[in-house]
Amino acid sequence: MLRSHIVRSLCKSHRAFSSTAAARSDSATLTPGFGFQLTEDQLSIQETAKQFARDVVIPAAPHHDKTGEYPVDIIKQAWELGLVNCHIPTEYGGIGLGVFDASLVSEQLAYGCTGIQTAIEANTLAEAPVILAASDAQKKKYLGRMAEEPLMAAYCVTEPGAGSDVAGAKTNAVKKGNKWIVNGQKMWITNGGKANWYFLLAKTDPSANAGKAFTGFIVDADSPGITIGRKEWNMGQRASDTRGITFEDVEVPDENRLGDVGQGFKIAMGAFDITRPLVASAAVGLAQRAMDEASAYALQRKTMGKHIIEHQAVSFMLADMAINIEASRMMVWRAGWLRDQNKRNTYYASIAKALASETANKCASDAVQIFGGNGFNTEYPVEKLMRDAKIFTIYEGTSQIQRLIISRAVADAAKQNL
Ligand SMILES: Cc1cc2nc3c(=O)[nH]c(=O)nc-3n(C[C@H](O)[C@H](O)[C@H](O)COP(=O)(O)OP(=O)(O)OC[C@H]3O[C@@H](n4cnc5c(N)ncnc54)[C@H](O)[C@@H]3O)c2cc1C
Repeated sequence: MLRSHIVRSLCKSHRAFSSTAAARSDSATLTPGFGFQLTEDQLSIQETAKQFARDVVIPAAPHHDKTGEYPVDIIKQAWELGLVNCHIPTEYGGIGLGVFDASLVSEQLAYGCTGIQTAIEANTLAEAPVILAASDAQKKKYLGRMAEEPLMAAYCVTEPGAGSDVAGAKTNAVKKGNKWIVNGQKMWITNGGKANWYFLLAKTDPSANAGKAFTGFIVDADSPGITIGRKEWNMGQRASDTRGITFEDVEVPDENRLGDVGQGFKIAMGAFDITRPLVASAAVGLAQRAMDEASAYALQRKTMGKHIIEHQAVSFMLADMAINIEASRMMVWRAGWLRDQNKRNTYYASIAKALASETANKCASDAVQIFGGNGFNTEYPVEKLMRDAKIFTIYEGTSQIQRLIISRAVADAAKQNL
């Protein structure tokens, strides 16, 4: 029954995805005016992801949270439905979704479980630099294989001593003939133990400034010299696989260099214009789940002769959740839409990421409050939401780093107005 539902959705969603992609390629310029109504294709994408989250992800999420078992079967099913690697262009076998449409998918998957959604989304993070900077041959090889089978990939930038301070990364690559020899250590790599290949940022000119010191590479995960660390047992999102990775004299052919030597920092940071709106949309999905769980509970639970939703102190908490969720979703849509129009969206992507991740934390915490003692207990769904939410203000740039980006843009605008 479930299987036939998925197969029907597969056919429907692939048709929908293709026609949406085709429509996008026709519109090269900004469409003026405002519009918040999703197209039929977008509603279909959203519905496919929603049903998958309800039917498959939600029932399995507690098991993966408790055990930390990587959700291989769920990812395979999502891949079959076209819900993984949404951005791979059609010419490389993908469905070529833009950021806006992909955000509809990630919000729904995250509603089900942000641990599982993060495992899926980490592919997008690894693929984004390839989409931005790879040659046609590199795209055919590395994006093509992701479209052909359900493989994972990982984005290797952070190091034990350098997270926010990407420029401080020490992993280095030295050219030897037509190969690069890579040495260094990466940390907190999502899909680190599951990836078929990595996007790797390595220092190639230690004397240059950050803008020119780094180069990006695609590294096959089975390359000799790579040691994968233990799965980290994190506060939340435990279905996701996070590891340290050590590179010791790893040989990477020059044909796996992404773009020009010295362009790596720009490529690695450019990926965030695609992925930050998606992280933000996942945070919206978690926040929406928190509000739905809390409002359903508040309709059932009685104190002092009333359902607790009738106590204004409780219902206003729900109202605040709604206010922040709606505002966050609009920022995600704006950031995604701008990107799809080939316009710079860094400022909006940072606003969306900061707002939505903080909204997710507030909503999850207030949902626990509304559940009272039950909220603190693992038999109820909201404590997991609270644990899962925290990472949204940390990965892909902390809330402080988003504010750094936003405040620089504000200062630049102010200078222009002088
Ligand atoms: C579960 C998980 C998954 C991850 N997945 C990946 C991945 O797939 N690939 C990858 O490359 N990385 C990944 N990361 C790394 C993540 O992006 C970094 O942890 C994050 O960028 C923060 O870096 P840090 O941990 O080194 O903290 P630090 O940079 O040491 O920051 C510590 C604190 O100082 C603040 N701070 C730092 N600098 C400034 C500043 N200039 N101004 C104001 N405040 C500042 C920070 O906001 C933070 O509060 C992941 C991390 C986790 C925990």
